Amino acid sequence: MPARWVGRGVKGIAARMLDGTATAAAIRGELHGRIAAFRARAGRPPGLGIVLAGSDPGSEIYVRNKLKTAAEEGMHTELIRVPADGHVDDVLATVAALNGRDDIDGILVQSPLPEGMGADAETQVIDLIGPAKDVDGFTPVSVGRLVQNRPGLVPCTPAGVIELLEREGIAISGRRAVVIGRSDIVGKPMAMLLLHRHATVTICHSRTQDLPAVARTADILVAAIGRPAFVTPDFVKPGAVVIDVGINPVSDAALVRSWFPPDSPRLAAFAKRGTLTVGDVHPAVAEVAGALTPVPGGVGPLTIAMLMANTVRAAELRLAL
Ligand code: NDP
Repeated sequence: MPARWVGRGVKGIAARMLDGTATAAAIRGELHGRIAAFRARAGRPPGLGIVLAGSDPGSEIYVRNKLKTAAEEGMHTELIRVPADGHVDDVLATVAALNGRDDIDGILVQSPLPEGMGADAETQVIDLIGPAKDVDGFTPVSVGRLVQNRPGLVPCTPAGVIELLEREGIAISGRRAVVIGRSDIVGKPMAMLLLHRHATVTICHSRTQDLPAVARTADILVAAIGRPAFVTPDFVKPGAVVIDVGINPVSDAALVRSWFPPDSPRLAAFAKRGTLTVGDVHPAVAEVAGALTPVPGGVGPLTIAMLMANTVRAAELRLAL
């Protein structure tokens, strides 16, 4: 059984929890007036089209949440399903149709696509999404605009992290930021956004040597790895801001017991459901960090809020054309 972390934390000091749920609600609240104004001018609500290929259980949950949130905001939503045994051409034809629709302002193709569609299916699909409707910020045009620090549609998760930092009054300029993870959807755009706000940024990945030592240089540490409780207190400079992007379902009871004290409500939740969603950051980091995003209730709600913000922005920009 894995040993419980005994820690080198600053005893008795607990990190400030950064409330992503509240920040997401504030972001969504600020969209209401813009959605109403768009409706009044366009004679229709902003429209979001989501393409879901196959029936991956995680994707089903993510898509359901996105559709529900968009509907709550009074947007027009459409879910277009492609069967798991479909061809990538079916997804491409669906995206092409959405590109041509006047009432659809944002297009999102839920990842991952079924393996049978081929290794380059996602690239083909992303390349076809019209940049004006690219609410995920994944097309080469959006990525180029981000790298050049020009206005554009920015990937939702890192955009949400920036919103959280700024609204929590956490300084970015001049500080050392370390991003663990170099994916196109989180790590790389996260690093760019921090760089554009004048942080000194280091990007780490699976081949980084002495990762804990590099991570310990960070004033702002972002973990986007996909490995539960990977970032232990020895990765964290005392007082650092730690952003936990990871969403990892775990069902190994011994592991879960090793992370939480016996009286933790998280253990009780695990006992009830037999599974628990945890981040990439070990719970004991709360004893070392100055501020920390929880999982759940941290970055996750911000991602959806920024998808709403991107859809409204795309709709406004299209109307201005
Ligand atoms: P990817 O699998 O695409 O990327 C993971 C990154 O972590 C890679 O760059 C990889 O390095 C790096 N990595 C993996 N193992 C190690 C290691 N041992 N040491 C150092 N680096 C390592 O994941 P995503 O970026 O898509 O997602 C990351 C996490 O964030 C997941 O848990 C995902 O579920 C979650 N997520 C959460 C969202 C939210 O809304 N909160 C939204 C999107 C993702 P290398 O490149 O060398 O392989």
